[in-house]
Amino acid sequence: MIRCRKCPRLVAYLQEVSKRKPKRYRDWDYWSKPLPSFGDPDARVLIVGLAPAANGGNRTGRMFTGDRSGEWLFGALYQFGFANQPNSSHRDDGFALSDCYITATIRCAPPENKPLPEEIENCRPYFLEELDLLKKIKVIVPLGQIAFTQTLKSLRLKGYDVPALSFGHGKSYTISMGDRPRTLPGRFMNRPYELPTITLITTYHPSQQNTQTGRLTTPMFHRIFRMVRRKLQDRSNRQKAMKAF
Ligand code: SF4
Repeated sequence: MIRCRKCPRLVAYLQEVSKRKPKRYRDWDYWSKPLPSFGDPDARVLIVGLAPAANGGNRTGRMFTGDRSGEWLFGALYQFGFANQPNSSHRDDGFALSDCYITATIRCAPPENKPLPEEIENCRPYFLEELDLLKKIKVIVPLGQIAFTQTLKSLRLKGYDVPALSFGHGKSYTISMGDRPRTLPGRFMNRPYELPTITLITTYHPSQQNTQTGRLTTPMFHRIFRMVRRKLQDRSNRQKAMKAF
């Protein structure tokens, strides 16, 4: 993926960014390539960002590392037990995620943080493949409206039955995949059976535009991860009850 060149506008922009570094980062050797996702491969929680920041993840080589949105995100993940430290400024600082994986709608920083629709489509196959590889995901937290809309579209493509859903801060939707399989062996037919489901919990993006204007506050953002923890607990209680049946 880091050799991907499907979006010429973004490839050109990344080269331009590494040539025009702000003074405070002039000693940095910018990553300036498509940015891989990262985290725990057995994660039950998937965070979906919009795109790397030109002087943040695109500089350090790891999503959300070294940018202001990352300070908010990593602080909240640490507070709720999904990260081993509350901040991360470079990719060799020992920061690690547990039960959580971070990806993005597109993997190259776009000018003004605004990807074009065709760039989102070019990058979608990477996200679809991640959905296949991350087999334990139970909760998805898209950061902001674009990530929310694009996550819904990807889940539809994966066969989830996704109705029209509205975006807002702190909404929770449970989406299931298709119908109960008809091929269950007879002796299992009367057992409680849970269709594969994913819960989406929505939040405003922790961008400076939102955090500096008070549209998103720390208590509002932390409430999202409290909801995530509660949802994981509910699901594990339900699975225990079903096993005991
Ligand atoms: S945004 Fe995605 S599809 Fe486009 S060049 Fe970067 S990695 Fe490739």
